Amino acid sequence: MRIEMAERIEQIPPYLFAEIDKKKEEIRSKGVDLIDLGIGDPDLPTPKPIIDRLKKAAENPKNHRYPSYEGMIEFRTAAAQWCERRFGIKLNPVTEVLSLIGSKEGIAHIPLAFVNPGDIVLVPSPGYPVYRVSTLFAGGTPYFLPLRKENGFLPNLSEIPETIARKAKLLFLNYPNNPTSAIAEKSFFEEVVAFAQHYQIIVCHDAAYSEIAFDGYQPASFLEVEGSRELGIEFHSLSKTFNMTGWRIGFAVGHAEIISGLGRVKTNIDSGLFQAIQEAGTEALNHLDTPLPEIIITYEKRRDVMVKGLQEIGLEVDCPKATFYLWIGVPKGFTSSQFATLLLERAGIVATPGNGFGEAGEGYIRMALTVSEIRLKEAIERLKRIQF
Ligand SMILES: *Cc1c(COP(=O)(O)O)cnc(C)c1O
Repeated sequence: MRIEMAERIEQIPPYLFAEIDKKKEEIRSKGVDLIDLGIGDPDLPTPKPIIDRLKKAAENPKNHRYPSYEGMIEFRTAAAQWCERRFGIKLNPVTEVLSLIGSKEGIAHIPLAFVNPGDIVLVPSPGYPVYRVSTLFAGGTPYFLPLRKENGFLPNLSEIPETIARKAKLLFLNYPNNPTSAIAEKSFFEEVVAFAQHYQIIVCHDAAYSEIAFDGYQPASFLEVEGSRELGIEFHSLSKTFNMTGWRIGFAVGHAEIISGLGRVKTNIDSGLFQAIQEAGTEALNHLDTPLPEIIITYEKRRDVMVKGLQEIGLEVDCPKATFYLWIGVPKGFTSSQFATLLLERAGIVATPGNGFGEAGEGYIRMALTVSEIRLKEAIERLKRIQF
């Protein structure tokens, strides 16, 4: 029998990292000591109090059964209280908070609740690939909003054609931003609210990096802005905040009907989040101060080493105020892919070509600060030895 994939899978644009992944394996198999700056996954361990709480919670038989769909009230309350402490926003944990199996899960499911076939979804480019794919899975059409350096990597909403804005159902945003490491001020969120109100568009703000910021800067929540709670939700994740990417825990907050729509999709697909993990997440949100100083200090030092080194080599990179990414302009004469391949073949350094995050990412590569300072210094030494 011939196995045919569904069109929704076939239509997904080709995986742009496939080529570099293949090359990476080839080079690794030759015994080259690779410095992998390609993956946005913290190398630091989860703090001990969180692990201790999981151990205890795992032994409680009450936690071995199906959890509730919307999440334990203790976890949702901890999430609401954390949002109040951190952003000054008051949320009803029953109607305005939903637990997620990582925020990626919520982002992947939200279009199924609100996007009809043919609806337009506004998607930043470059951007986290899930916004585009989840739109396509729901039968929607992504309309890409280019994030350009001259505009601080914020989308220019006034450039969106009237006909597109009228057909748009949903807008994805993400600040602090992956992959550009750009930040948004509240004035931009105010523009977003006015735009979304005018065109009746649901705003989904991805705040995965709200607790990874430097030099004392504290990113704002989209929900701090007046009017935002009548049209939007925000995705939060414990992954980067507490070094918990493998645990799969996050939450969505905001407009009760949008939260409930997402909940209805989830009820039909998953059966919630292991309660022992929710207990550990509750411990994290209630008892650990964010941003966690030890995480920030580590990334800050790495950032300084790497930015200085790259600038000395003559590469174009800004010193980011947030996230653990560097968004680096490629030298003249190279495409993103060509430059990433050169770094891999000549220096054993893995970086992600910017066009993998969308066409508008062409001309850049992304490096993640998720390896030790010693290895970053080694990367700079290797870069100094090659010419481009
Ligand atoms: C890491 C990341 C997420 C997903 O985090 P999980 O909660 O682990 O699913 C979401 N959005 C962006 C932009 C990310 O980089």
